[in-house]
Amino acid sequence: MTIFNFSAGPAVLPKAVLQQAQAELLDWHRTGMSVMEMSHRGKEFMSIAAQAEADLRELMGIPSNYKVLFLQGGATQQFSMVPLNLLRGKASADYLNTGIWSEKAITEAQKFCRVNVVATGAANGFSDVPKMATWQCDKNAAYLHITPNETIGGVEFDSLPACGDVPLVADLSSTILSRKIDVAKFGLIYAGAQKNIGPAGLTIVIVREDLIGHAPVGTPTMLDYQTHADNDSMYNTPPTYGMYIAGLVFTWLKQNGGIAAMEQTNIAKANLLYAAIDNSADFYRCPVAKNYRSRMNVPFKTRDASTDAEFVKQADARGLLQLKGHKLAGGMRASIYNAMPIEGVQALVNFMQEFAAAN
Ligand SMILES: *Cc1c(COP(=O)(O)O)cnc(C)c1O
Repeated sequence: MTIFNFSAGPAVLPKAVLQQAQAELLDWHRTGMSVMEMSHRGKEFMSIAAQAEADLRELMGIPSNYKVLFLQGGATQQFSMVPLNLLRGKASADYLNTGIWSEKAITEAQKFCRVNVVATGAANGFSDVPKMATWQCDKNAAYLHITPNETIGGVEFDSLPACGDVPLVADLSSTILSRKIDVAKFGLIYAGAQKNIGPAGLTIVIVREDLIGHAPVGTPTMLDYQTHADNDSMYNTPPTYGMYIAGLVFTWLKQNGGIAAMEQTNIAKANLLYAAIDNSADFYRCPVAKNYRSRMNVPFKTRDASTDAEFVKQADARGLLQLKGHKLAGGMRASIYNAMPIEGVQALVNFMQEFAAAN
């Protein structure tokens, strides 16, 4: 049976990457060592880290005045590191609220400063993104934080506000590398690796250099971007194996046409799945407004919770795994990150049609 894994994260990785990791597990490039056993300061691992960074820079077109940091602590730790480092003496920061992950970032930032919520999708149950013309941005804000893809709600947007000198900060955990973005428009980007990059335990931060070095006195060393920027992410032991796998994923992306090609496939995959939902005579419903439907995380429901549970159970038996929705959302969620082949989405759509016909 062919298995397709729709987990929201940790999520599916490209099979070719896992096979290469398997082949190199015991002996990396005739060193006689596993990558897991290498000193992070040895020439072998230093070359793995340098290549991973170079490949990510090439894939995303990261300008030279940005640092790429390989950290730990997940995207969740960035909810605190961003205000700690980027407030720069200012009293408040702007946040757009598009759902559960935005709210977590907001709640954490409130420990450090006054948070001005520029707009919220709460009134519409976070089924869309408030129109940019309605955002109440503060030109004195330290930064504006957005979550361009809400992994739980399945809400995605790609238009960026013009916020003058206010740096734009984005949690790209579940959309990084899935579509083209212009890094130069952002002050800081962060992403936990376990959705579209690699295994859990690695967090990538891409930060404009002038935003580094402003953490207040008393900031824990490990929470200061300066520490990591000054030490090429090797102030302490970095998540070496995660960086190695991420590097293999970057190579795989380059070999498969880069982000532009990935984006085209992702559009095709999302179109296929949303069409199956929309053409199901209301058997399946997606709560998200059409213009804001995520290409990465597709939430949907049937008429009731017991049918949803039956759907998940039967899908699982067919090798269509981890389709149960987030506990806060219920229903189903299909996460269709870069590593999910279109064949997996087609198999899901086939099953959805069969299940609808039988129920
Ligand atoms: C998964 C996720 C997080 C949390 O990431 P951790 O690595 O578990 O801290 C934060 N934001 C978004 C958008 C996510 O998808």
